[in-house]
Amino acid sequence: MKSLYFTEEHDLFRDSIRAFVQKEIVPYGIQWEKEKKIPKELLKKLGQQGYLGINHAEAYGGTAADFFYSVTYLEELCKCGFGGVTAMISVHQFMATNHLAEAGSDALKKKYLTRAIQGEMLAAIAVTEPGGGSDVSAMLTTAVKDGDEYVINGSKTFITNGVHADFVVVSCKTNPAAGVNGISLIIVEKGTKGFTATNLEKMGWHSSDTGELAFDNVRVPISNRIGEENMGFFYIMESFQLERLVAGIMANAASEHVLNETLKYMDERETFGRKIKKYQVLRHDIVNLFTELEAAKHLAYYTSWQFANGMIPVKECSMVKLHCTELSNRVIDTCFQMYGGYAFMEEYPIARAYRDARIGTIVGGTSQIMREILAKMIIDDVQYKKVYKEEKEGSESTKSLSAKDIILSLSERLKAEKAEGITQTFNFDISGNGGGQFTVKVNNGKCTVTEGLSDSAECTVSSEASVYEEVELGKLSPETAVMSGQLKISNLMAMMSFSKLFRRVNG
Ligand SMILES: Cc1cc2nc3c(=O)[nH]c(=O)nc-3n(C[C@H](O)[C@H](O)[C@H](O)COP(=O)(O)OP(=O)(O)OC[C@H]3O[C@@H](n4cnc5c(N)ncnc54)[C@H](O)[C@@H]3O)c2cc1C
Repeated sequence: MKSLYFTEEHDLFRDSIRAFVQKEIVPYGIQWEKEKKIPKELLKKLGQQGYLGINHAEAYGGTAADFFYSVTYLEELCKCGFGGVTAMISVHQFMATNHLAEAGSDALKKKYLTRAIQGEMLAAIAVTEPGGGSDVSAMLTTAVKDGDEYVINGSKTFITNGVHADFVVVSCKTNPAAGVNGISLIIVEKGTKGFTATNLEKMGWHSSDTGELAFDNVRVPISNRIGEENMGFFYIMESFQLERLVAGIMANAASEHVLNETLKYMDERETFGRKIKKYQVLRHDIVNLFTELEAAKHLAYYTSWQFANGMIPVKECSMVKLHCTELSNRVIDTCFQMYGGYAFMEEYPIARAYRDARIGTIVGGTSQIMREILAKMIIDDVQYKKVYKEEKEGSESTKSLSAKDIILSLSERLKAEKAEGITQTFNFDISGNGGGQFTVKVNNGKCTVTEGLSDSAECTVSSEASVYEEVELGKLSPETAVMSGQLKISNLMAMMSFSKLFRRVNG
């Protein structure tokens, strides 16, 4: 096995996206930077090749490929060296269309997601307002019901793709008195009366448009709302995890690209009769950064693996966003120094890399906000639950499983090779609808489940059926359930070794 995460199929896919980047992006990137515009044909070409659907359901034209295809894709895209291009694509594919894919109605998905996957429609997501971005709950934009329409008033700022997008997912207060419980996500199409967008001049990402949006009595059908009314804040918070993971993966890829380009430059440039790659002080700087990058990549890969397995790893996603974007700034700043005065010249890509990378620690949640989230989780033991009503791709069949079904399936989920030579007896005392009392016996590679409790069990697990189901289906962390007293385990050590003998319900 060459990699814990990537298969030969991922490698073949990597070759194909790499070739696409070299043919369709690299030759035109500088021109797009100067023109401050990326032609929509690029999106269409990505759609025609199927790239825009790798993370979306087959029912809407995607391929629902495992998440490491997305990782591979993002890594290779970022090696184009144009942050504006990768911002446009990643916001469209992994941020703006994510809420729609997760919580949108079938009709909305058919109308917008399908065309976004084909590359026929460009998408944007508008959460940030002039009054503040970090405090999402403080937004002022409102959507008031009038018959079968919402009337939207307010403004948004710093919106990637905001000027050229064919549709924008707009967060609005639908119940301003209810705080975070009064926000909804609503699709507004380009050209809707009262909706205007103007481009903002930026330090970097020159080819990508960043819009200031105004909504003046904009009327859209109520059916344009994504998911449930007033659930928008929770959808945004959950989707942030994917955004932050994606941001970290992209930051790592940009770092790697710049480090490799810098190595080439250090091999060419000579001072005092020696190639600069021979100076120990520079060599040490470079290898320190490669080492840190390797560690950052593994954190991002592990988090991607969690994500691929249906988890919403808030802690790890926040760590990835914080660490990888901060590292990227350090990598690019150090590499900038290696180029001497040429670094400051526009014709050297390091100048663009420097200004494109800097925004990484701000967009999608600043480093300070990441530290706040992490402090709450690590120090105050705050936990986050999944909010989308539907389960993630691949776990569709787990939706209707009761606690009883889950316990009965233990015999099928036993990893026989791990259980060889092991004898354990566990009681499950699960109350409420869908529960029951069961004895689970593991005996030398075999597992039997019988009704009733055993007197000789070394551990008893007891809870309400709904709690047990949530834990098993990954909606509630076992730690939280135990700490809050909702799940009782009489022998934690025995439980830890017991649980390793079984495959996960949705894995
Ligand atoms: C190029 C670009 C593209 C963007 N694209 C999008 C997009 O597509 N959609 C979208 O909705 N938004 C987008 N944004 C907005 C971006 O997500 C916000 O800029 C970001 O969330 C920060 O919000 P803010 O700029 O209002 O800063 P503020 O919230 O005003 O923060 C200012 C400073 O205070 C710090 N701070 C704030 N609160 C705290 C706290 N509680 N504790 C400690 N420090 C704190 C921040 O870390 C920051 O350093 C984009 C921004 C840029 C620049």
